[in-house]
Parts: sequence; structure tokens; C-alpha cells
Amino acid sequence: MTKPVVTVIGSINMDLVTIASRVPSQGETILGERFRLIPGGKGANQAVAAARLGAKVHMIGAVGTDAFGKELLHCLEREGVSVDNVKPVTDVETGVAVITISEGDNRIIVVPGANHSLRPEDVEVCEEVIASSDICLLQLEIPLPVVERAVALAKKHGVRVILNPAPAQPLPLSLLEQVDILTPNEHERDIVFADIDASRFANPFIVTEGARGVTIIKNGQPTLIPGFSVPVVDTTGAGDTFNGALAVALSKGMSLEEACLFGNAAAALSVTKLGAQTGMPTEDEVQAFLK
Ligand code: ATP
Repeated sequence: MTKPVVTVIGSINMDLVTIASRVPSQGETILGERFRLIPGGKGANQAVAAARLGAKVHMIGAVGTDAFGKELLHCLEREGVSVDNVKPVTDVETGVAVITISEGDNRIIVVPGANHSLRPEDVEVCEEVIASSDICLLQLEIPLPVVERAVALAKKHGVRVILNPAPAQPLPLSLLEQVDILTPNEHERDIVFADIDASRFANPFIVTEGARGVTIIKNGQPTLIPGFSVPVVDTTGAGDTFNGALAVALSKGMSLEEACLFGNAAAALSVTKLGAQTGMPTEDEVQAFLK
């Protein structure tokens, strides 16, 4: 059977995670307990999720020519993600998220770096890859004009578009109208639809609601697709797993409802393990879970 083709246009980051017993005050130095480098970025996470679930995945993005950039490309390649369309940039560092975890809470600074050096021209040169895809999957950690250009190119070739509007920001109606499926969480839905009447929105959208599952809104009518009850270890990347899984399931011809069930199962499995990319399940694991 031929693999579904998913093209992800989005961010690639290295997460620098420090675990400490408390947060230092200004000017203070304290000893931390642990440090980890973890591949991340919503784009790369969703690409890995889709690849583990059996899709042929093309990644369109940008990394620096520094050590983090090289490592992140290796990680994507190890997962079978094609990085031929990831632009190496020499004048800016690879994107990073500096994360401090202490007292059960986290503080995060994201430096977009190379992700923000992506230009609309960079997706224009990938028109053939976009045109040959079953689905294009995007988020908002790259410049909005790049997202808009990629969506326009996908629509020009009749390719379905999923936009995960994270991090949340108000979006132009002209963009929203071209997106086939929008996948905000509840907070993102409130921001995206702050000035837009969601019931006027013609295309269906899916609101992810954590352990509760997801609600599909079609013509203003909500349908809950319940989540799965699992022992929770780490919910980081649950949303990314859901989006990657949704893209794969829809590419395989599943209905929206079936695809959301598949996405809920994949995301539930991901929260039973530590880490975003490390916790993402394979296609076989999801099939076994759903039996
Ligand atoms: P994140 O930013 O942590 O990746 P998110 O806020 O984008 O997540 P959520 O709505 O929290 O997205 O989660 C996405 C999906 O993951 C949910 O719709 C659900 O299918 C699954 N999920 C999340 N948390 C749980 C949980 N505790 N138990 C089972 N499934 C979960």
C-alpha cells in the first residue's frame, strides 16, 4: 500500500530543559538538578508524529548551520522525515526553547532564530512537494506570510490543509477561509475567534480539550469525540501528536470522526510516556490500543 504523503511547514527547535528545585531570583546563581536537550518545535514534533504513524513526511522549515541545527536534522532523518526542504541559514542560530522546570511549574523562553528567517519564497520553491502531498499541516511558529503563502499554494493544487493555530494569535479571515480544518485548543479557539463569529465559519474545525477528547464543530453544531482514559505521565506534545495523527488518518481516507478517534488514541498513548517526540506512538501501537 502506498504511504500517505504529509508535508509539514513549521518550526524546528532544540528544547534546553533545566530541572531545578526552585527558580533563582534576579542576580542569583543556583545549582540545578538535571539538564536535557530535547528535539522540539511544533512543526518537527508533528512531522515525527505523522512519520511514526506511517506517513511519508516532507518537512519544510529552517535551521541554523550550528550544532543544534545539524543534530535536529539527524533526529528528523532518523524518524524517516525528509529534510531536503529544510533551509540551512548561516546568519541566525537554530530556534531554541529555554525551559526551566521547578516546583511543578515551567518557565519557557522561545527564541525563534532560524524559524523566523523563513520567507514566502522558501515555500514557493517547494511548490512541487506541496502539490504532491495528500495533506499540508501547519502551525504558527513561523512567520504568518509564510503560512499564508503555503496555504495558498496548497489550495492552488487542491491539497487539503490542516492549521493548528498555536501559539494563538488573531488570524485574517482570508486565511481561515482557505483552511480545511483548524485545530485550536480551547484557549487558542478563544483568541482566533475573538473578532470572528465562529458560526459563520463554513469549514469544520476541531477543538482539542485535553483528557476530554475533541469537539468537532460543523456548521455550528458540536460533536464530542471522547478521549481515552490513560495513566498520565507527561502531556507535553499531546496536541502535536493529535495533529500528526489527524493528518495521517485523513490522508488515508478516514472520515473526520474516525480520524479524531484515531488522533485521540495516538495522543492518549503519547501522554503515557515522557517527552514530546519520545512519547509518540507508532501505527502498530495505536492499532493495538484500539483493538
Ligand atoms: P500540548 O500543548 O500539551 O501539546 P494542547 O493544549 O495543544 O496540548 P490538548 O487539548 O491538551 O492539546 O490535548 C490534545 C489531545 O491530546 C486531546 O484532544 C486528547 O485527545 C489528548 N490528551 C491530552 N491530554 C490527555 C489526557 N490527560 N488523557 C488522554 N488524552 C489526552
